[in-house]
Amino acid sequence: MDSLKNRTLLKVIVLGDSGVGKTSLMNQYVYKKFNKQYKATIGADFVTKELHIEDKSVTLQIWDTAGQERFQSLGAAFYRGADCCVLVYDVNNLRSFETLNNWHTEFLKQANPMEPETFPFVLIGNKTDVDGGNSRVVSNKRAHEWCGSKGNIPYHETSAKEDTNIDEAFLGVAHIALSNEHKQTNDIYPRGVYDSVTDIIDPDQNRGCAC
Ligand code: GDP
Ligand code: MG
Repeated sequence: MDSLKNRTLLKVIVLGDSGVGKTSLMNQYVYKKFNKQYKATIGADFVTKELHIEDKSVTLQIWDTAGQERFQSLGAAFYRGADCCVLVYDVNNLRSFETLNNWHTEFLKQANPMEPETFPFVLIGNKTDVDGGNSRVVSNKRAHEWCGSKGNIPYHETSAKEDTNIDEAFLGVAHIALSNEHKQTNDIYPRGVYDSVTDIIDPDQNRGCAC
């Protein structure tokens, strides 16, 4: 069993216009399912996925919301403690690419991270499968340029329908969120307290106990 010290919970927020495929990406990633029917997400919800990175057990807690919702109505709890923000657009929909600036700005405004310049974002261009790529309106190059202008945000292209590149994209998310977590100085458990708690309840350290 992993000791508590090696467990990490990472909060990931997924934002982008309604219909770009946020819910589909999450469903494909966590449940390996794709649903063709469009069902607007109501409110905000999260799914979790367990990963092993190096010697750590990492739980990605991925928060979804309906794109058309007002940021203000999502509430502070939605943003609190975010370790990474995933911005999603549809490569076949120019408007969904153009609104990325708004999502980026609004996230920083609402989440108010300690170091906004270095807060980890990841960009996903979804629906690369549509029409065999012929209806695409945002080029890979243009997306990379946007990422460059925001301080080199990592970029992934995916198809939630065909399950293309999704594991890789979220693994990238986990890595960047983890590196941000290391940098945070305002741990909820100050180091000393955390260690003494794990000393008490970590089963690895209580070998020989019959209970
Ligand atoms: P959300 O509003 O951002 O959560 O978007 P949804 O996940 O609800 O997806 C909106 C619509 O796009 C649904 O009809 C999905 O089936 C469809 N969709 C999502 N991802 C893809 C994709 O990668 N390829 C294709 N062809 N359709 C997709
Ligand atoms: Mg949705």
